[in-house]
Order: sequence, then C-alpha cells, then structure tokens
Amino acid sequence: AKIAIAGAGAMGSRFGYMLQKAGNDVILMDNWEQHVETINEKGLTVDDNGQTQVIQIPAMAPRAVKEVQDLVILFTKTMQLKTMLEDIKGTIGKNTAVLCLMNGLGNVDVIEQYVKKQHIIVGVTLWTSELVGPGHISFTGSGSIGLQNIDPREQDRAAKVVSLLNAAGLNATLSTDVTTDIWKKACVNGTLNSLCTLLDCNIEEFGQLKEAPQMAREILNEFAAVAKLENVTIDVDEILTSLQKLGDTSQAGAHYPSMHQDLIQHHRKTEIDFLNGYVAKKGKANGIATPYNTLVTQLVHAKEQILVED
Ligand code: NAD
Repeated sequence: AKIAIAGAGAMGSRFGYMLQKAGNDVILMDNWEQHVETINEKGLTVDDNGQTQVIQIPAMAPRAVKEVQDLVILFTKTMQLKTMLEDIKGTIGKNTAVLCLMNGLGNVDVIEQYVKKQHIIVGVTLWTSELVGPGHISFTGSGSIGLQNIDPREQDRAAKVVSLLNAAGLNATLSTDVTTDIWKKACVNGTLNSLCTLLDCNIEEFGQLKEAPQMAREILNEFAAVAKLENVTIDVDEILTSLQKLGDTSQAGAHYPSMHQDLIQHHRKTEIDFLNGYVAKKGKANGIATPYNTLVTQLVHAKEQILVED
C-alpha cells in the first residue's frame, strides 16, 4: 500500500521503517528540515534493539507531497497536528484512511476539521521510540495497537488497516471502545508524565513518593468528572493501581517519561494542553471545578517559559 507518515519523529519513523520493511511504499513527511535532509542524504539511522542499521527511505516536506495515499498516519506532537493537517491536504483522497495513534485528548475534533468522519481511525499504541537526533531513531522492545473507526459503520476500513499493520508486525487489534482507551492513556500521562516533569524525577522515584497516590488521585478525580461529559467512565482506583505497578521498583527502573525528556532534557514544548490542560479547559467550560489540572497546566507552561527558547 501507499503509506505516508505525517510527522516522522520518533514514532513516525519507527512505524515508517517497519511498514517499509513489510513491502509498503512509504514516504516520511516532516517539517523539521534538518531531519528530512539528513534522511535523504545519509539515510535513516535505526537502532533496532541494539542493532544499528542505516536504511534508505524517502522523506519530504509535507507540503511538497502531492500524491494521494492509501493510508496517512498522523504522528506529530498534538500541538503540531493542525498545521500538519493543513500541509497534507494533497495526500488525502476519496479512499484514504487517516490513522491517528497520538497521545492526548481532543485530537479527533481537530482531525474532523480536515477529514471526513468515515475516513478517520483513532487508537492508542504501546509501541515506543526515541529520536536521538536528526535522521536517527532508537528503540527497544515491542508493543501493540488498539484502533477503531470513529464512524461505527465504517469498521471495514479499520479492519483493513489492522491487517496492514499486522503484516508489518505492529500487533494491532480492533478496539471496541477506543474513546475510553484514549482517556485511560491520558489519565496515566496526565499524572505520571506531568508530575515527573514538574518534580524532575523518574518513574521509580515517583513511585516512592509518599505524596504520589494522593496527588494523582486529586488529578484523576477531575479527569473522571470531565470524561463523564464525553460518556466515558474512568475508574480512578483502577488507574491508581496501574500507576502503582508502573512505579514498582522491579519494573520501572530509572526511566524518565517522554514529557520529562522533551521539556527538562531537551527544552522542547510539551503536550500539556491536550492532557491536563484539556481537562482544565473543558471542565471550566462546563462548570466543573478543575483546580489541580489548572495548576499543573500552569506550572508546566511556566517551566516551558523558563526552559524553551522560541
Ligand atoms: P517527536 O517529538 O519525536 O516528533 C514529533 C515531531 O517533532 C516530528 O515532526 C519531529 O520531526 C519534530 N521534532 C522532533 N525534534 C525536533 C527538533 N529538535 N527540532 C524540530 N523538530 C523536531 O514525537 P514522538 O515521540 O514521535 O510522538 C508523536 C506522538 O506519539 C505524540 O502524540 C506522542 O505523545 C505519541 N507517543 C509517543 C511515544 C514514544 O515513545 N515516543 C509512544 C506512544 C505515543
């Protein structure tokens, strides 16, 4: 199939690499010029579970790609999504499926401004990847994907995408309630990522903090109240149990969540407005008090102001 990756950072490049290896005609589309140039001049360097290889894969600026694709996979950071959708209008035709596996809340609202509902497939993924530098990604381990078409009558399209991903070893299944899956992942990111970033600690250290469960509970209670507006039920205790498991010393190790890597280590902006910020904003608009998420959002933005040069 003809597949374009819209946003070929850590995740987009990993998916592009795996889909190309499975025989698809893949193009990486990215707005970071130095990254695109490096891939075209020197190839994409891939550290695949400790084995380094350099692969040839075409990369272009999104606006330059005019050919209609069978599948477009959106993998920007959430705050770059709107610009990317503007840039890739030429790649989306009558039969193009558009898949979004990005983190965060509210992505569907943005995509719906550009793509017909029947064509939109969303999901969550447990695959991971790291962008080492321009033209260079690194990853270990494996993952999975759960996805669903947002128009319930269009599951055939989602099923085709599942087959395509599975042929590349991406371990995908059709989800029955993807909105709840997305909220649950946002609950974990909105506590673990945000708080580890603000506290400048790793997941294991966070798991040892006396205050951690109560702080997480306050944040999650607000997530649950706002999720209800979207007919999503969040079991706060269930999320707290999964957080506890993640912070368990035998499992977590000294791993820093991606928001920490982005902001504290690389001085890049975060997806906070689409996690805690989304809960704060939507809560406010609907008369639900969200003081904890409002403060977390403000603190992360303040830290961005300190660390990120525009
Ligand atoms: P990323 O930051 O690696 O890449 C996103 C975009 O930012 C790309 O277009 C990239 O080229 C650009 N970019 C990165 N570094 C840059 C720099 N120094 N200068 C200019 N541009 C730069 O994002 P990602 O980690 O691939 O995440 C994409 C989405 O997937 C996000 O919503 C994320 O939350 C989600 N996600 C990530 C992981 C992971 O392990 N990385 C896992 C699951 C979900």
